[in-house]
Amino acid sequence: MKEVFRHHEYIRVSYFRDLVEAAGIPTMLRNEHLVHGVVEIPIPEFYPNLCVMNDDDYQEAWEIIHKVLEEEKALPGEDVTCSKCGEKSPSNFGECFACQSAFNLEKSC
Ligand SMILES: [Zn+2]
Repeated sequence: MKEVFRHHEYIRVSYFRDLVEAAGIPTMLRNEHLVHGVVEIPIPEFYPNLCVMNDDDYQEAWEIIHKVLEEEKALPGEDVTCSKCGEKSPSNFGECFACQSAFNLEKSC
């Protein structure tokens, strides 16, 4: 048995458990009972964690999880192009760094 993912939010660990299980890899959630209901325990040793039952599955499970993590990371990192001057600013900027015009982040449908 080998641990592939650990996080203080049970819901997150549980989400990855479902993904990995869906790929046909047997897993086990540890410390799950420690977070049900009451308070989160702020000690990483007690965070819920996801393990693969067979060490051979570790690489595949790790790839499934990290693919999702990379995709999540990529989302807010996209640059926003200013409609006035065409300069690119990071998406967490509220306005263009070059001309200071506010971004219109509302999406038209
Ligand atoms: Zn601009």
